[in-house]
Amino acid sequence: MEQRINGHTRLYALIGSPVGHSGSPAMYNYSFAKLGLDCAYLAFDIPVEKTKDAIDAFRTLNVGGFNITMPDKTETARLVDRLSPAAELVGACNTVVVEDDGTMTGHMTDGVGFVRNLKEHGVEIKGQKIVLLGTGGAATAIAVQAALDGVDEIAIFNRKDEFYANGEKTVEKIRNAVPGIKSVSINDLDDMDTLKSAVDRCDILVNATRAGMSPMEDVMPVPEELLRPELAVADVVYNPRETLLIRKAKEKGCRAAVPGIGMLLWQGAAAFELFTGQDMPAQEVMEKFFS
Ligand code: NAD
Repeated sequence: MEQRINGHTRLYALIGSPVGHSGSPAMYNYSFAKLGLDCAYLAFDIPVEKTKDAIDAFRTLNVGGFNITMPDKTETARLVDRLSPAAELVGACNTVVVEDDGTMTGHMTDGVGFVRNLKEHGVEIKGQKIVLLGTGGAATAIAVQAALDGVDEIAIFNRKDEFYANGEKTVEKIRNAVPGIKSVSINDLDDMDTLKSAVDRCDILVNATRAGMSPMEDVMPVPEELLRPELAVADVVYNPRETLLIRKAKEKGCRAAVPGIGMLLWQGAAAFELFTGQDMPAQEVMEKFFS
């Protein structure tokens, strides 16, 4: 590292709180070094009320760009100069690129990472019918990107908790922004008849809830009887690496069983490309940092 840092080194960063556990500095610094890029990446613990101060400082310091994790994603989207179509629709961004003129563009790469992870497992989403479980941050990014990338139908399911209204808003936003989509709906996850008929007729089932995440490792987001071989099943949960849902999908012979860790890798790779214009050495990063 000391051999790489010099008077011209461009700074990239992560903001959010907490950030100490993040794998992003290791992933980006490894990739910068591997590609011989004169850049360095640091994480800064920034509570949401300090987001504006951090962004003002980044403007002054002329950083190359930065990533944003919770709880700063929505506030950052309000503060940057422009937003990508996905970030605009989600109302949050996880990546900001500082353009040559110093202005800032906010992007949301979680949905891009999700779609790329599916593709890496042989699953295309264009023209497909998706059942999406969840209406939180990850689910919203996935719903928006899937709609922008041309899925035919999205049936969103969530339990009637504090996140449900967010799903109603997402449905409304997608209907307005992507009028070509055949159907987008929001339903109660506890309505088993509607859930069963939606899963029976869909191509891809996505879990974007916390069900299955440690310490809820034993929780299935849907009854395992709904899994069948024609279905591709994807999870966003990556802790544990193989969730109960993914294990059951494999046991049932589903045509694909896609764990969430690849989404984490590919959302980072998408940000890396926005920052540098180059491909991240994704395979090596996966083996070194995410296995
Ligand atoms: P969030 O807090 O914004 O949303 C939580 C969602 O889970 C809501 O829809 C809520 O209703 C639902 N939920 C919570 N407990 C549930 C339960 N027991 N049964 C059914 N639904 C339940 O969270 P988020 O940021 O969207 O994260 C959700 C999951 O996705 C987490 O496991 C997170 O680690 C993971 N995630 C993965 C990636 C990735 O790159 N793979 C990216 C973002 C988030």
